[in-house]
Amino acid sequence: MKKIISIVGQPNVGKSTLFNYLAGYRKAITHYSSGVTRDRIYCDCKWKGNKFTLIDSGGYVIGKKDLQIKICEQFLFAIEESTDVIFVIDILSGILPIDYKISNILQRSKKKVFIAVNKIDQYKSDIYEIQDILKLGFNDYFFLSGSTGQGVNELLNYIFSNKKEILIKLKNYNLPRITLVGRKNVGKSSLINTLLNKNQSIVCDLPGTTRDCIEVIYNKFNFKCILIDTAGIIKKKRKKEDLEYFSFLRTTQAIYNSDLCFLIIDTKIGFQKQDIKIFKIIKNTFKGIIILINKCDLIKKKSILQNLKQNIIKKIYPFTDLPIYFTSNFSKQNIIKAFNQAISIIKKQKQKINTSYFNKIMLPILKKKTINLSNGRNLSIKYCVPILKKGIKKFLFFSNNPKLIPRSYKRFIEKKIRSNFDLIGIPIQIKFKNKYKVKNQRIS
Ligand code: GDP
Ligand code: GDP
Repeated sequence: MKKIISIVGQPNVGKSTLFNYLAGYRKAITHYSSGVTRDRIYCDCKWKGNKFTLIDSGGYVIGKKDLQIKICEQFLFAIEESTDVIFVIDILSGILPIDYKISNILQRSKKKVFIAVNKIDQYKSDIYEIQDILKLGFNDYFFLSGSTGQGVNELLNYIFSNKKEILIKLKNYNLPRITLVGRKNVGKSSLINTLLNKNQSIVCDLPGTTRDCIEVIYNKFNFKCILIDTAGIIKKKRKKEDLEYFSFLRTTQAIYNSDLCFLIIDTKIGFQKQDIKIFKIIKNTFKGIIILINKCDLIKKKSILQNLKQNIIKKIYPFTDLPIYFTSNFSKQNIIKAFNQAISIIKKQKQKINTSYFNKIMLPILKKKTINLSNGRNLSIKYCVPILKKGIKKFLFFSNNPKLIPRSYKRFIEKKIRSNFDLIGIPIQIKFKNKYKVKNQRIS
């Protein structure tokens, strides 16, 4: 039977955001019925071959005013016509009295209820009193974020699986995330198997291998993290309705939520346009990056592999300070080495660079190079500040006429930072600011 899933909860907990995430960019249909002030919104969706209808119930409010009564009616209608209910609560505001009222209504409805503990992306602590959620009277709860998509896969897998899967515990959301990206068939799933020491068929049996991202908790080499296997990147941008297009969007989102990505290339196919596109997404979101030239067991001549590597370096210029490995899932060549490199990059990403040490190294280098600006003046950099913000390494340079600084000089600076501070595999951001603002800048 096709499921009809309604999303309910009090206002502002993130129902519409979750609805939009689940619906992707499909067009939602608003249900009009005469005299109804606040409409229910419907959307036909598909999850791993399961068709279902999603309903945004419009929220539950308490009050005796006409509008409030109508909204409450909508909420009750939505539950009535559903087979399953996603009950959204906001982890940031905690559980409020109105949540208990909603819970009472849902208990009486006898529908299957799944609690979505939403906005996990903004939750800073790594402990949460699960007892509070259990007081609502339902056992199935999921920590997720409708804005970033974190944890949404687990919820849908569970709704459509019938079998009890292990609930992802909150602390796992703070683990480093390593995402495997690349075209279809380059060996992403096989790499997960190699790392997990499992054989091929096991990953193939997991749901979502072909289309969506799967996440595995990996704990080896004294480093616990989440490995994410993404759907393959497709060749062309397709129509928005195309499922492949949604996979692409989810892959992009997976990159955005990662600390580091392995960009995997097939030796036989080489580095193509799509690879460059995905490389740019990783670089522009400042995620750690390692390129794996996989299936190198298929190529006997070393010179062919070297040519391929040179070709990649040419295409990713100017950001070439990153590890590139020749790997094979069959011979296991370089796989452990690449993973250890990933650990080292992630650790380095989180390390702050001391400001006075950075200035001590960089200022003499910058002073040596004279730059004439288009207004006839010489560039003078007074001070630099390395910043670590949301895992991104930023470097601020305070100078005269920051808008007139040529691009080539920015590249020169990046090169010098890289040669003096080991930042292999880490994209960095360089910004020039007016030197008079230096007093207001916080120094890390
Ligand atoms: P609704 O009234 O329950 O439909 O809530 P909305 O979807 O309109 O969201 C209410 C507010 O919460 C908006 O400002 C959203 O941007 C924000 N929001 C929704 N989902 C999330 C989330 O997963 N994380 C964070 N940080 N904010 C969210
Ligand atoms: P995905 O779509 O990127 O996840 O690719 P898969 O892991 O499903 O692999 C696609 C095909 O490539 C399968 O037939 C694998 O056996 C094969 N494959 C994966 N890694 C290697 C490798 O290192 N060497 C060779 N020769 N084949 C591989």
